[in-house]
Amino acid sequence: MPLLHLFDLDGTLMFGSAAPVEISRQLGLSTEIAELERAFAAREMEPHEFSLAAHALWAELTPAHVRAAFDGSPWLTGIREVWRDIRERGDYCAVISLSPSFFVELLMEWGAHAAHGSVYPSVPFTGPLEVAGILTPEGKVTVADQLCERFGVTREDCVAYGDSMTDSVLFASVPVSVAVNARPYLAERATHVYVGRDLREAYRLLGLPRSEAAPS
Ligand SMILES: [Mg+2]
Repeated sequence: MPLLHLFDLDGTLMFGSAAPVEISRQLGLSTEIAELERAFAAREMEPHEFSLAAHALWAELTPAHVRAAFDGSPWLTGIREVWRDIRERGDYCAVISLSPSFFVELLMEWGAHAAHGSVYPSVPFTGPLEVAGILTPEGKVTVADQLCERFGVTREDCVAYGDSMTDSVLFASVPVSVAVNARPYLAERATHVYVGRDLREAYRLLGLPRSEAAPS
């Protein structure tokens, strides 16, 4: 049975930053997003409240800002190599993130089979943000179940990669998990723990046979 690898984005594929932070940086709104990030991390805001505030903050956002944010983000090295190895094995890789869909979906360019974020209107924004489309920690599991059905696997075939509290529900629902640069709360609940900046090293902790993605 193939494996389905489920990757968080912020703090996991991206080192020490998050898509909303990188998007806001392009707009000169780093101070404003830092306060929202702090409030969300302190659980003073729910995911939909954070997303509504971010959507309002990004009224001037253009596709060029989004591309510059994506290209300038502090990605871990080796992401494309790991996803290529996953594909060559006949396994599947997907990104499930609470961050905006218009950013998360760019990771399809790097070889993910699927990329799901919180559903935002297309950029530049002309319509309102629908709260129903905002992902939650529990919603990540719902998306994972949909992906399992799409790829013909079960939760028992899933590996989750994450860094924070928002990954804890998904970690609890799959048999194998990799904490990547994670908060202690999540690391204590993970099968494997990785600290560093090379996704190939985190992936290698799984001990999959005939891995060709090991760092040289
Ligand atoms: Mg994260």
